[in-house]
Amino acid sequence: MIEQEFASLIDAYAHTSHRQHVERIEQAFRFANKAHYGVRRLSGEPYIMHPLAVAKIVVSEIGLGSTSISAALLHDVVEDTDYTVEDIDNLFGSKIAQIVDGLTKISGGVFGDKASEQAENFRKLLLTMSDDIRVVLIKIADRLHNMRTLEAQPKEKQYKIAGETQYIYAPLAHRLGLGSIKSELENLAFRYEHPNTYAELQERIAADNMTRMENFERFAQPIREKLKSLGYEFDLTARIKSPYSIWRKMNTKHISFDDVYDLLAVRIVFTPHPNFSEKDQCWMIYSAITEIYRPHPERIRDWISTPKANGYEALHITVMGQNGDWVEIQIRTRRMHELAEQGLAAHWKYKSGEMEETELDKWLRDIKEVLKSDSPDAMAFLDTFKLNLFAKEVFVFTPSGDIQTLPQGATVLDLAYQLHSELGEHCIGAKVNHTLKSSDYILHAGDQVEVLTAQQQQPQPEWLNYVITAKAQSALNAFFRKQERQQERVGERRLNDALRSLSIPETQYDGAIQRMLTYYHLTKRSVLFRQIGLDAIKLEGLKDIIAPKQSLWSRLRPWRQNSQPAISEQDEESVTMDTRKDKSRHNLVLTDENLKDVILEDCCKPIPGDEAIAFKDTTGKMHVHYMNCPVAERLKSSYGKSIYSVTWDTHRMSQYKEKMEIEGIDQFGLLIEMLRVISDNFHININELHITANNGVFTARLVLYVYDKAELYELMDALKKMHNIQSVKRVFD
Ligand code: MN
Repeated sequence: MIEQEFASLIDAYAHTSHRQHVERIEQAFRFANKAHYGVRRLSGEPYIMHPLAVAKIVVSEIGLGSTSISAALLHDVVEDTDYTVEDIDNLFGSKIAQIVDGLTKISGGVFGDKASEQAENFRKLLLTMSDDIRVVLIKIADRLHNMRTLEAQPKEKQYKIAGETQYIYAPLAHRLGLGSIKSELENLAFRYEHPNTYAELQERIAADNMTRMENFERFAQPIREKLKSLGYEFDLTARIKSPYSIWRKMNTKHISFDDVYDLLAVRIVFTPHPNFSEKDQCWMIYSAITEIYRPHPERIRDWISTPKANGYEALHITVMGQNGDWVEIQIRTRRMHELAEQGLAAHWKYKSGEMEETELDKWLRDIKEVLKSDSPDAMAFLDTFKLNLFAKEVFVFTPSGDIQTLPQGATVLDLAYQLHSELGEHCIGAKVNHTLKSSDYILHAGDQVEVLTAQQQQPQPEWLNYVITAKAQSALNAFFRKQERQQERVGERRLNDALRSLSIPETQYDGAIQRMLTYYHLTKRSVLFRQIGLDAIKLEGLKDIIAPKQSLWSRLRPWRQNSQPAISEQDEESVTMDTRKDKSRHNLVLTDENLKDVILEDCCKPIPGDEAIAFKDTTGKMHVHYMNCPVAERLKSSYGKSIYSVTWDTHRMSQYKEKMEIEGIDQFGLLIEMLRVISDNFHININELHITANNGVFTARLVLYVYDKAELYELMDALKKMHNIQSVKRVFD
């Protein structure tokens, strides 16, 4: 049985256009066969049947050559036997050894017990993939064979393997252009995850398959005749869609089985005439078919003019068949067909000599770049990356007519980062179809985009809210981390200098820092250093704070006297119990550290320093409202027990948008004078400015970026003092 399987592998290899290195493959097979000798799979067959099957998939379904076939035969040797990568290296050379090494590293699969483990495994997978794409292609073949033989595994293992396949391997196969493998993986995963639904669908498909195929023959006949008369050599086939793709269609479109109109995938694969462009001939066939059947005007997909990012090319059309049913037909040349089935491998086969960079090459390069930048938040990376695997694509044009492919929902900023990280960092917006748009503008298919930059521009934290590509996100995170580390270093240096100038011995630095953390309600040194670096914490009062003997509380600023440490999970119980006795215990201290965990509600947009209350919802999340906000009033009356008073203990780390209204006597130069106060004296940035002047009275409405209430009111006071300004008000929505 083993020898027979090997002979069939060699036979499949002989039918490819690869240079024939049969000896090397045979050597790998003999070695693996000996190494796995005596071991059986759960199904009962000898273990070597698995590597043989994987090798066969690698050659006949993915189209790879002898190096990959050998590596596939050897892929479980290091993992499952006593042989090492060095042994493989000595016997088969470094290339095969490297691939086997990569496969061994990712042999554990992606799913782990912990999310972090999963992210790490996934990262490993991508790393090995970007090193040598063959690693992941063989891994997909391995997974495909395991899925085909999943029956033998115990139930809980079936779930894990099927889940993993659905989660990562099918999308990867899709991204690498392995069309039919992706469909088979999805369908098999579906079969093991939803066995009953799967069986039911199969039954329904089988039920009227006869009529369906008869109908197809009647539909196909006139097309066949027409194509023959045009002198084409072609295959016109109909394949029933898989239960999975039917099920997905029923679910996404909320329709019943009977309403899935395109159960059949009809495909024309033809050999094009020489000296004639493939694209022209696809359209000629389109024209021939639509002379017989009426086309659906909105269901034409031209993946020839702009291939999908995974390299897919074809012309998809939908026509009305004899019974009034819509039928989708895919028109492809043989080359396009091979590309659709074998993806990447076929890509390289057809790639012209000058090695132009394909979308896939670009994608792999992007992955490498993203992985190079250290990313401590691997989970977030994984999420974005996965999103990008699934996402539909939009094509946009650069001013020079180049096509750029982006996932749907991508913004101007995503495009800027995709073109060049330098362009991203300095992006201030874009001209989209010659109209000025901000950098958070969501791109549409066919947009022509010219990215605009300014040298003084640099990444802002809110940018993270509107980039969706992994590349832009990781570039931004890297930028902010670098910036934070710089601020920390500056702060640490300043603090050390200050401590030294107070002649404090170095052995007491730790104690001093500890006292500062307590004083400022912080727990992390890094945050303390950063605040010092940002000048948010000044060091003038350092001596008093770190003096060990005196009572700390006596030196607190008056407004902080009631404050208690921020509510933590553990003392929540006691806080709730004490409420009735002592109202002040029900207090929430907002610090720079915990501020990001609470919600500053949009209805009233409280900013640090504002009189505010917090409402604790059932999940424990804190919602902060301005004291007089109507929503707050309602909450107070209905959920008294869940209401906390709020004390701010923040240090001007983040800015908030605030609205202000100014009224005055319209007079020449007043506006300039006003702006001078805001910009020059207070260094406050203006987000919006509306001015109206009526009968000598002028009204200005501004949106400003401020750190806290104190800053806002200082500015308001300064403006009020100006000649001709009558009133300055803060505006709540
Ligand atoms: Mn295996």
